[in-house]
Amino acid sequence: MYRRSADGWVEVICGPMFSGKSEELIRRVTRSKIARIPVQVFKPQLDTRYADEEVVSHSALKVEAEPVDGSLELLRAISDATEVIGIDEGQFFDDGLVDIVDNLAAKGKQVIVAGLDTDFLRRPFEPIPTLCDRAEYVTKMLAVCHRCGGAGMYTQRIVHSDDLVVLGATDAYEARCRMCYDPTEPEQPSLGLGDE
Ligand code: ADP
Ligand code: MG
Ligand code: ZN
Repeated sequence: MYRRSADGWVEVICGPMFSGKSEELIRRVTRSKIARIPVQVFKPQLDTRYADEEVVSHSALKVEAEPVDGSLELLRAISDATEVIGIDEGQFFDDGLVDIVDNLAAKGKQVIVAGLDTDFLRRPFEPIPTLCDRAEYVTKMLAVCHRCGGAGMYTQRIVHSDDLVVLGATDAYEARCRMCYDPTEPEQPSLGLGDE
């Protein structure tokens, strides 16, 4: 006998900076809002680049979002009635996000997580790669390479820093294709494509 599966599932939207992850997340949660489905959107507390209580894309699309300090705080902030949960900048969450997202889906929620799948040295940026394993749907986005216009798959840091997390947009990072990516590249000015 077949057992009907739960209504919930996990969607991951991953890719480098400027690939349109936030835009795509905003598009999906906005459609749910139009359909009057109860939605909550979250972002990590540390990402306050553009606004405190909104997710804002580089193209200035926006949606209301609750800043939370870690995955447990996110879990506690979810209302029973909420059916769609959007999470931006998932790479800035702790590894606890994986089981929390998994359990929410098992309980019937639709969870959409956007985030970087690799860091500026092309290393896996957890918890996004593990979340991809747990997701029914994975969308890998590509940016436009800031140097040659090709398929930008990586995030190149263009300012010098030894920290893993340097918040910034076009002043600190560029999208690069596999030919133009160079982790040993010295600091250099951006070509000024995009939204500067
Ligand atoms: P992400 O969340 O992946 O960093 P956003 O959704 O915030 O990306 O922004 C995507 C938008 O950024 C694009 O629609 C475009 O308007 C703008 N943009 C600026 N630079 C680039 C680039 N190099 N490649 C693609 N889009 C870019
Ligand atoms: Mg984004
Ligand atoms: Zn290139």
